[in-house]
Amino acid sequence: MSTPTDALQRLRRVHEDAVLAALRAAGGLSRAQLTERTGLSRTTMFAIVSGLLDRGVVIETEGSAAEPRGRGRPAALVSLNPDAGLLLGLDLGRSRVRLAVANAAHQVVATASADLPGDAAPEEEAETAVRLVHESAAGRGLSLGALEAIGLGLVGVVDEHLPHVTVPSELLAGGGSATVAPIVPARYLPLARRLGEEFGVRLAVDNNARLAALAEATWGVGRSVRDMVYVRWSVGVGGGLIAGGRLLRGAHGAGGELGHVSLDPGGPPCHCGSRGCLEGRIGGRRLLEECAERGVPLPALDALVAAAQDRVPAVCEVVAAAAADLGRVLAGTVNQLDPALVVVGGELAGLGSLVLDPIRAAVAGQALPRSPREIAVVPADLGVNASAMGAIALLLHEEPSIPAHLRPDVP
Ligand SMILES: [Zn+2]
Repeated sequence: MSTPTDALQRLRRVHEDAVLAALRAAGGLSRAQLTERTGLSRTTMFAIVSGLLDRGVVIETEGSAAEPRGRGRPAALVSLNPDAGLLLGLDLGRSRVRLAVANAAHQVVATASADLPGDAAPEEEAETAVRLVHESAAGRGLSLGALEAIGLGLVGVVDEHLPHVTVPSELLAGGGSATVAPIVPARYLPLARRLGEEFGVRLAVDNNARLAALAEATWGVGRSVRDMVYVRWSVGVGGGLIAGGRLLRGAHGAGGELGHVSLDPGGPPCHCGSRGCLEGRIGGRRLLEECAERGVPLPALDALVAAAQDRVPAVCEVVAAAAADLGRVLAGTVNQLDPALVVVGGELAGLGSLVLDPIRAAVAGQALPRSPREIAVVPADLGVNASAMGAIALLLHEEPSIPAHLRPDVP
């Protein structure tokens, strides 16, 4: 049963989250600026900041002339302690787990990856991920005691209606009231549990293609726009939509699943249950089949990309035709979202104009006429770590976390 003390602790945590979110967004702020941005009272703000200072979560530095005070010394600036508040992003792909670590100043201070065997059991994946975190931290001299939260990128639909796991509060560092209600496909429950047991911090979860979109919108080629369509073209085809500066997750966790737009209702069946999906038409496996049918057997997608870079004619034709089909789907999305930018990521995006020009032609030819502006179609620029970085961006963009015991019960 909850007591008045519990309620006060929860309220304090909500206030702390608001202060930390403001500092993450803005860097250093004076107490007066923090009061203004969070809407907390001056008395509450002073108490919250002094608690955070005592725990080493924030530090105080002398203010600059940027904030005029009339007379006397400039106001002290409160900022996140760069040696605390580490954020970890993990990207669980089909064959590899990737990691990125950011400090409280939002600088990525470590990236790493480890292979996953194709038939890895969920428990094995979890152990690989945990080992990678420990090895990377040891290699970079990072203290995992400073870990504040973990963002997790997963393959597949991440849907809040699927089973989820809550890490018991006794497992949390310091026994704090910040708890976890990650929303995780059942396949990944062992991983979520293992991360919770090992690190005892907040988890946030999303689809990894969507997270790559969020990373591009936060740090990459889309950082100056608020509306963006992202597609990741690789073995699979995934995507993410940024609208009004926010990542669209959708009502069922399937927002931005461009790969499952059907091009042909009578086409071949797709693993999603539909038929004739874009992924089945242009995904890496299908491209390899098409190249083989044209007498150019290739072992894997990287060999296909290399052959296209070498301008092997049959391979270039296969890729260009697939890019035109991708462009048709993107043109439809462009007409609905009206983005400033279309971003193409994944291995195929590395082929530059061979891939981008057919997409540009399709978008220009089929999108609504909207002169004088044109929709730019550009390659992604964060590379293979985009999803792991996006998992960190998810933590930065999150609303202040609601302690799990304040959430409605979910079966
Ligand atoms: Zn499908």
